[in-house]
Amino acid sequence: MEPVKLTAKDYKTSVPIVWCPGCGDFGVLNAMQQAAAELQLPPENLMVVSGIGCSSRIAGYINSYGFNSIHGRALPIAAGAKLARPELTVWAAGGDGDGYSIGTNHFVHTIRRNPDITYIVMDNHIYGLTKGQVSPTTPHGDVTKSTPQGNPERPLNPLALALELGATFIAQGFSGNVKHLRDLIVQATQHKGFALVNVKSPCVTFRGRQEFNVIREHGVYLDESHDPSDWNQAHEVTQWTDKVPLGVIYKIEGVPTLEGVAEEARKKALERRSFESTTELIEVFR
Ligand code: SF4
Ligand code: MG
Repeated sequence: MEPVKLTAKDYKTSVPIVWCPGCGDFGVLNAMQQAAAELQLPPENLMVVSGIGCSSRIAGYINSYGFNSIHGRALPIAAGAKLARPELTVWAAGGDGDGYSIGTNHFVHTIRRNPDITYIVMDNHIYGLTKGQVSPTTPHGDVTKSTPQGNPERPLNPLALALELGATFIAQGFSGNVKHLRDLIVQATQHKGFALVNVKSPCVTFRGRQEFNVIREHGVYLDESHDPSDWNQAHEVTQWTDKVPLGVIYKIEGVPTLEGVAEEARKKALERRSFESTTELIEVFR
């Protein structure tokens, strides 16, 4: 008998969605469910780990194993899950306030370790759940609840940071283009290593509905003239100030993954069950 083909509907849950009507995160949820269907991921082999924030509710909205975890801590939990159960597909998800502020430490070290997981960040340039404070990616000068005179700080550039840290897959999508975002998530999931998908996902309540038009006007879809394996080209794209790059910005293959390195160490240890000294044992895990 032919196996039943999974569709996006198979990844929906009965958990009531409490996002504001029109929130960009609906597009991300649809894209993730469509990507799961495209990849025919059995829900029991998919794990979605999120942090805390409006967007982090997404772990409850996808029919899979889910963990709506701790503020800024989705990545180490996701990497640990992948290490313990390498056969699972692991997606981490959250917002800019979660991942690029309190979570920056984990962002840095997860990229360094290169676990084979995908990190989807719903970047709306604001803290939505706590009602509109300035976030690490709020543009300079923007008025928010906590910066009534305008944001005095320069925003963090997550794409440039990830590239500089040695991320092996970096993409950017837009929640207003679900099909394009779905394809990016599919490619990120198929990539062997840590994949960042930063998504411009407007908060309509605290940054207004016009934010969708801002991304549409400034968004530039990368075409075949962009070579994602070329670090210098990728770097140039991450430095754009008046345009928003959309697509796969950077991608390299063949970098050892965290699980791969751990498995090698395990094999080495099994090959040599007796050790002359503790120093020798430690050497095996180097
Ligand atoms: Fe979405 Fe903003 Fe509403 Fe949160 S506050 S659900 S980010 S529109
Ligand atoms: Mg946010």
